[in-house]
Amino acid sequence: MHLSAPWGDIDPMSRRPETLFPLFADLKGLGGVGPRVAENFAKMDVEKPRDLLFTLPHNIIDRKLIDTINQAQLPNVVTVQVTVGLHQPNAIKGRPYRVMVEDAGASFQLVFFHAREDWLRKQLPAGQKRIVSGKLEVFDGLAQMVHPDYILRIDEADELPQIEPIYPLTAGITQKIIHKATLSTLERVRGLPEWIESSVLKENKWPAWHDAIRTAHAPQSVNDLSSTAKARERLAYDEFLAHQTTLSLARSKTRRAKGFTTIGTGMMRNKVLAALPYKLTGAQSRCIGEITDDMASGKRMNRLLQGDVGSGKTLVAFMALLATVEAGGQGVMMAPTEILARQHLAGLQPLAEQAGVVLEILTGRDKASERKAKLQALSKGDIEILVGTHAVFQKDVVFNRLRLAIVDEQHRFGVRQRMDLGAKGKAVDILVMTATPIPRSLELAHYGDMDVSILDEKPPGRIPVETVLVSNARMDQVVARLKAAIAEGRQAYWVCPLVEESEVVDFAAAEDRYRSLRLALGDENVGLVHGQMPRADKDAAMVAFSGGKIAVLVATTVIEVGVDVPNASIMVVEQAEHFGLAQLHQLRGRVGRGTEASTCLLMYAPPLGKTAERRLTVMRETEDGFIIAEEDLKLRGAGDLLGTAQSGLPRFRIADLESQTALMKIAHDDARMLINVDPSLKSPRGEAMRTLLFLMEQDKVIRLLSVG
Ligand code: ADP
Ligand code: MG
Repeated sequence: MHLSAPWGDIDPMSRRPETLFPLFADLKGLGGVGPRVAENFAKMDVEKPRDLLFTLPHNIIDRKLIDTINQAQLPNVVTVQVTVGLHQPNAIKGRPYRVMVEDAGASFQLVFFHAREDWLRKQLPAGQKRIVSGKLEVFDGLAQMVHPDYILRIDEADELPQIEPIYPLTAGITQKIIHKATLSTLERVRGLPEWIESSVLKENKWPAWHDAIRTAHAPQSVNDLSSTAKARERLAYDEFLAHQTTLSLARSKTRRAKGFTTIGTGMMRNKVLAALPYKLTGAQSRCIGEITDDMASGKRMNRLLQGDVGSGKTLVAFMALLATVEAGGQGVMMAPTEILARQHLAGLQPLAEQAGVVLEILTGRDKASERKAKLQALSKGDIEILVGTHAVFQKDVVFNRLRLAIVDEQHRFGVRQRMDLGAKGKAVDILVMTATPIPRSLELAHYGDMDVSILDEKPPGRIPVETVLVSNARMDQVVARLKAAIAEGRQAYWVCPLVEESEVVDFAAAEDRYRSLRLALGDENVGLVHGQMPRADKDAAMVAFSGGKIAVLVATTVIEVGVDVPNASIMVVEQAEHFGLAQLHQLRGRVGRGTEASTCLLMYAPPLGKTAERRLTVMRETEDGFIIAEEDLKLRGAGDLLGTAQSGLPRFRIADLESQTALMKIAHDDARMLINVDPSLKSPRGEAMRTLLFLMEQDKVIRLLSVG
């Protein structure tokens, strides 16, 4: 009988190693944890014993015994041996109960509120010796310890931790509770197979995992709390390694899928290049080369094109699409908005004609008959390049020989979304383009599964945008200047504030501004575009603006990304203090695309808060998207910057993305090396790695990777 088949199909990631069971069991099995405590733990994201292991102390209390409180600087936690003296019960209701005690050099009081006398007399019999530990302070000239943390008989002395770890808490959880639960979890910890590459382990002098976890919970000094303490550093590395291994697995899965070998003739591309009024920048040539090499490799491409606003990504994308068509394939490019899809069509159509390529657009608004015809042409292969909104990836859209899918202007296209996209076409090459540079320190965390091309050069002749901060009080002056500028034939965007996250409020503000600017500048000069407008009106406004028929376009943030009207040279952003840095950078990126000097006016309502002021100052000081991204990171923190939920980026409990970038790099290289030689994690180290992936709860992600 053939036994292996039924088991052979089981995904190896579906079974958690037994050694980890106790760490993933119910929290309520731990010492001192009942249903109520478990609920409170959940508030601090501690749901199973494992989570306690990765919740490390952030401070320590030194409880080493001293002879007398005279040796301590008050207020402070002190531990001394005392002889119990007189009890002073609370004669008056509401007054505390006091017990006089005396150590080797001084006397002080133990103070109790709402105390029960019989209990206190038992704990602290007069004349006997006790060890007390707690915070000692001076009150009314008297040294006193309110509710000592410990009162122990001399024979109980070793119950007292010399150095007590202090954990982050939440309501309903005390140090005692978390300490006890953690100790009880630590008892369940078994040695696990080593998943870190031995040379990396040696070089960094890291302890084995179980030693690291025990040490991290038993800090002996403040140094042990530092992120560079060996035990903690190893645990941080484990988090990065699990994350990078997941990304590497994702990458290897895409790449293992045999891809097309797309080698274009170059004919169409040459025609287009010859027809362009400008030459490619060096960065564009390099990126086109990287992309076409990747497409020619026969492995599936999974590539990110990172380029600042205005660096000319569209042309790079178009060259890749042409190479696809030259090789007999079809290509598709998805834009995030209808406006952008239309703009791509308008900009690329003349070039497509030069090349003799059939280009079409598909969005959610095609009429049924139109849509049907397009879908038919697509499936027959008559349409060679399709641009559009997310409609291009709907179920009923069937290509004839799709080879390349491009996603344009996605700031937040996480691992998950990339995987979904990958499932659309068999072995289709994927190129994701992002206009929001992300800080180098986050690049690996976010895009570790992709190969990256960077457009780090802008087309020549661009004049820096002058950025000015203007108080609302000067609105009249701004309008007067705008009037003069449009008289000279200049064009301007006027972006209205994002008052609330509600489109309705948004567009009301835009409509008000639209009316007042029409009054001031003349009806024929001002157009309006916002998300709530009928689509035809939206299009008409965009066309009128890009064709130079109207001078001023009042807009909401619908124009935030991608919009390209080179003649527009003024950008006014109202209540700029309400926008994030990345958004402001994108908005400003709409101007400075032509040959004329451009201005960006950031209007604000004083007084500015500290962060808002910093943001606006950064905008004034630099136009470099990478610097802006770094500043954004400083102001907001990594999770927020990437939008953790969407990005697929785990919340690291121990590691710190920003300060431990070097560790991430090692983890990235190590993970790629392992997955290169052992993509199905079958070697001994691969097996160990599986344990880590389960420990770090990456199993869900991995399982997601193994479907489809
Ligand atoms: P982004 O990277 O922001 O998507 P675009 O692709 O919209 O940038 O390009 C911005 C502008 O620069 C467009 O008007 C485009 O025609 C122009 N452009 C692109 N490449 C070059 C180049 N090599 N030289 C001059 N202008 C260019
Ligand atoms: Mg673009």
